[in-house]
Amino acid sequence: MSSKQSPSISTVTLVFGDQLTPAISSLSDSDPDSTLVLMAELPAEASYVPHHKKKIAFVFSAMRHFAEELRTLGWRVAYYELGETPHLNTFADVLEMALATFEPSQIRLTEPAEYRLRKLIDEFSDHHAGVVDVLEDSRFLCSTEWFNGWLGKRKQPRMEYFYREMRRQTDLLMDGDKPVGGKWNYDAANRSAASPDLVYPVPLQFSPDDITNKVLELVDGEFQDNFGELHPFWFAVDREQAESAFEYFVTDALPLFGDYQDAMLSEQRFLFHSVISHYLNIGLLDALTICKRVEVAYFDGLVPLNAAEGFIRQIIGWREYVRGIYWSQMPAYLDQNYFNVKRSLPSFYWSGDTDLHCLSKCIGQTRQEAYAHHIQRLMITGNFAMLIGVDPIEIHEWYLAVYADAYEWVELPNTLGMSQFADGGLLGSKPYASSGNYINKMSNYCSNCRYNVREKVGDDACPFNYLYWSFIGKNEKRLKNNARMKFAYRTWDKTTSDKKAEIAKSTRKFLTGLDSA
Ligand code: FAD
Ligand code: SF4
Repeated sequence: MSSKQSPSISTVTLVFGDQLTPAISSLSDSDPDSTLVLMAELPAEASYVPHHKKKIAFVFSAMRHFAEELRTLGWRVAYYELGETPHLNTFADVLEMALATFEPSQIRLTEPAEYRLRKLIDEFSDHHAGVVDVLEDSRFLCSTEWFNGWLGKRKQPRMEYFYREMRRQTDLLMDGDKPVGGKWNYDAANRSAASPDLVYPVPLQFSPDDITNKVLELVDGEFQDNFGELHPFWFAVDREQAESAFEYFVTDALPLFGDYQDAMLSEQRFLFHSVISHYLNIGLLDALTICKRVEVAYFDGLVPLNAAEGFIRQIIGWREYVRGIYWSQMPAYLDQNYFNVKRSLPSFYWSGDTDLHCLSKCIGQTRQEAYAHHIQRLMITGNFAMLIGVDPIEIHEWYLAVYADAYEWVELPNTLGMSQFADGGLLGSKPYASSGNYINKMSNYCSNCRYNVREKVGDDACPFNYLYWSFIGKNEKRLKNNARMKFAYRTWDKTTSDKKAEIAKSTRKFLTGLDSA
């Protein structure tokens, strides 16, 4: 793109790296003849946490493919590759440069998805009054304004009631004003453990093209010390590929998605999950379109109701709900620390080098794929961090760095709220804490572990067992009155003081070993 002023440019439209769709409000309302689209790969964006190499490569390659898609559609695009213009570090630099170079009368953009960028844009707007036009992000089904109104009326907001409202508003799986099948939620049918003998589909994989290969070279060179393995790189990087990957999921995995949603297996990284969150979060897939496709698959008899409802609930329920919580609580949400804990994140979260087999497997897979499914994130890495009392900010920054789908608006509520209970119960109704028993029931990790999941205390006992009961004991005042913790505290009350002393001793020994490692 020439840096000379173009007289016909009246508007510069900034497109962020997670807004890769021509349907984004900043583009759908603009005139290609008088608009210049601005996109940039920026050092500040690539380094605010030490992102997984695959995540950086995915975003840069998808951005470059999107710039090509826009040019094909007739847009003029100024695209700045990483390192091409060393003075461009942040989006504020890019916007200052655009004002000076192209002299537009207006800068247009769709609201950024993350608080830190919203703050940057607000500060820029304050310096350049009347120039910046910020539009709502219409990719989400629920506006932040509507969510705040809904939240405001409730003492104890719960996702389930929000979800029912979203079902009514979208008319997905509805029979008049009643849910199809008579029930809103089939989660109880979605908790089977998986057998290694089932046939598991592998997500559709793509060979890197010339654009991606150039990006892989860049990431190999510039980000060689970052977390994770870059090769093999198989993600979809454009809309067509992402849509094929989704269609493949619908036909090959969705029928059993519901049944095995909570299962974990050492040898199977993806089970029947869709592996689409990274495509959805940057705009290669559209939330409502994919939910409608799943609804059609159900009505055509291709998938059972527990699978279709379970999938749609994750998208129009959880995904929209965590976004609403994020925007209603930021920036104070970042400071939440209900259990007042401050242990550093164990170094093996970066290496996977631990003899706790479940953790080593989940972290090893995260290093290789920049992916772990929900129960691995919640009940293995998240559960362990909560049981040992990791500072919520440290575990938040880890999740934000290591997954290809990680953006603060979706990651932070899932981490701080759902997995660490650091918000004291705003997002979830109870802490997702468990002993080794749950992990053994839902996975085959324990059969290859040096620890014995059936032993409760001592050097060979599964650490999740004594850590869980220590957590229950330590947080009695905070949690005992929580109705969903009644069962745990009934057992704790019956535990003898000798047993409690043994639990405390095993916990102390384990944590001392961990802290000195
Ligand atoms: P599937 O299991 O196939 O589910 C389908 C889709 O539903 C997902 O692609 C996703 O878009 C949506 N979804 C499911 N659960 C959630 C949820 N709890 N919140 C929001 N959307 C959901 N998801 C992210 O997109 N980005 C994150 O950074 C992220 N961080 C997380 C951190 C923790 C500690 C936990 C417990 C969960 C996190 N999640 C995050 C939610 C969830 O784990 C991922 O969306 C899911 O694992 C992605 O894999 P999938 O596409 O195969 O999902
Ligand atoms: Fe994890 Fe404990 Fe099972 Fe080992 S025994 S895999 S540490 S749950």
